[in-house]
Amino acid sequence: MILLDGKKVRDQRVPELRREIRELGFAPVLGIVQIGRLERSEAYVIQKIRFGELIGARIEQVRLSADVSTEDVLFEIRRLNADPAVNGVIIQLPLPQGIDRRVVIEAIDPTKDVDGLTARNLKSLLENDHQGFLPATTKGVLSLLRHYEVPIEGREVVVVGRSLLVGKSTALAFLNENATVTICHRFTRDLPEVTKRGDILVVATGSPLLITPEHVHKGQVVVDVGINVSNKESLAEEISAPKLIGDVDFVRVKDQVLAISPVPGGVGPMTVLSLFENLIEAARRHGASAR
Ligand code: NDP
Repeated sequence: MILLDGKKVRDQRVPELRREIRELGFAPVLGIVQIGRLERSEAYVIQKIRFGELIGARIEQVRLSADVSTEDVLFEIRRLNADPAVNGVIIQLPLPQGIDRRVVIEAIDPTKDVDGLTARNLKSLLENDHQGFLPATTKGVLSLLRHYEVPIEGREVVVVGRSLLVGKSTALAFLNENATVTICHRFTRDLPEVTKRGDILVVATGSPLLITPEHVHKGQVVVDVGINVSNKESLAEEISAPKLIGDVDFVRVKDQVLAISPVPGGVGPMTVLSLFENLIEAARRHGASAR
């Protein structure tokens, strides 16, 4: 079994990202809007800050209380949009109830949308025009497979999960890479029969340990996007906490497939890497348009 080690891939890329930032001639700035103090989000944000600082980027963290209004969030996003020193803006998800996710995401300047979630960037994905930013998680999944030289073109790819921001976007990206793509969801009949068809199986459901040996085959490459907390006490720990589990039953599945990504340490670190790759690209474009 080949372990698709996202943490290792991310760490290997550090010198290259540092070099790219040196070549920019300035430290790119990422604005992170964080609403409320969900412990899991705190851990994600800390990871992003640490990685950003490691490669020489700067982070502007905007913390808002959980009871802010959508208008307050929009005010901060517009401020970051208008600041020429800021190259990327992200909103840490999930958002507290009462804040409309689409409205606040749409407020981000698409040229600073380094999470790749605004309609304009999703349209670029839909049209495969290479103009926008790929959603960071989707980009992370593809980069992980590319690093391990997993062929995509012409292969059968099964994606379980159809959320706009993860499953559907990732399925589209595979389609753009000339894979033959099947998307599964709760209404899919006989899930194991469908998932087994894939040369590559990508799982993004938020249903812990959904995928078991009956869903996979020996020649398959499995990418587990899911991040689930196995018990509430682990929330205060870092993302690398052992109590985070994926949508795939890693222990039972790992010896039944060709390759598999672990949770934690698989897609999570690749998402962070992709976010900063997008930030550097955004900074490059901003730098070019300022000249
Ligand atoms: P959503 O809840 O928005 O979507 C889940 C999708 O999975 C839905 O399409 C749902 O189907 C489908 N689904 C859920 N349970 C089943 C099931 N039993 N059988 C078949 N399909 C199922 O979640 P997200 O897409 O936002 O996130 C998915 C997972 O990815 C979560 O664990 C999340 O934490 C993780 N994640 C990880 C990231 C990373 O960087 N590694 C980044 C973002 C998310 P239906 O539409 O029919 O309801």
